[in-house]
Amino acid sequence: MIPFFAQRKKTLLALLLWISVYSFSCSGSDGEGNTKISEAMAPATEKVMVPSAIVQERKMASAEEIMKRKQVPVLCYHHIRDPKPGQSETFRSYSVSPAQFAEQMKALHDSGYQTILPDQLYNYLAYGDPLPEKPVMLTFDDTDGEQYTIGAKEMDKYGFKGVFFIMTISINKPRYMSKEELKDLAQNGHAIESHTWDHKNVKKYDETDFENQLMKPKKTIEDITGKSAAYFAYPYGIWDNNAIELLKKADFKLAFILSTKRDSANPLYTVRRMIVPGTWSTQGMMKAMKKTFE
Ligand SMILES: [Zn+2]
Repeated sequence: MIPFFAQRKKTLLALLLWISVYSFSCSGSDGEGNTKISEAMAPATEKVMVPSAIVQERKMASAEEIMKRKQVPVLCYHHIRDPKPGQSETFRSYSVSPAQFAEQMKALHDSGYQTILPDQLYNYLAYGDPLPEKPVMLTFDDTDGEQYTIGAKEMDKYGFKGVFFIMTISINKPRYMSKEELKDLAQNGHAIESHTWDHKNVKKYDETDFENQLMKPKKTIEDITGKSAAYFAYPYGIWDNNAIELLKKADFKLAFILSTKRDSANPLYTVRRMIVPGTWSTQGMMKAMKKTFE
């Protein structure tokens, strides 16, 4: 029979081990490093008793359970610019003016919304972790420079954090964000994530694209930010099953579409977002947000 104190010590050790494994795998500091640490720790956790209640709590939800969870509003922005005279309807649908953006951030703040980051959304969807009472995710596509100069500055007023989906081909190009700006955003608590190398439609992938559009851009972003980039936005919001399998293989945890229908078999890889066009009033945006994600 094991003396009482030895048994307690053993349980405590098991708990500590579990906590250390868990916190490494969720810290998202380094994709490659995580795997190595987790693998190295795995044999040790098998030898000791892991409290079963905690293990059960971290069991990933089924696709069906995830589909049943209340959707979190995810907004999608592209340009934050004043339209020039004669600018096309397409431009208007992919841009809000700086004044509109400022008004929308204020409205979200005044209505009690709090921004969440992809890790929080993932832990909520996959494990049922709690979120703020009125969560919202603010996402920015395509690397535009004004997302840094105007977008982030405006969000700063309310302590909001955004998610920037980057096409790595555009980094450091005129009108796009630089490496330093991306690094600065990451250091200020924003998430820098992948939107492929050059915005190629995933339905047109050939055998080179797993490397070129998924693996290399992920690494480029991780090298710039020093943080893991485990989240993905499909260019044009277009997805297919082949892309989902490639994203899983590349260790992406969530992938974002637009406001089309989710895949009930793969809800983590078809998370919905709503584009906010410049033709909407702030009130209209707030209403559309509630309706789209209800
Ligand atoms: Zn895009």
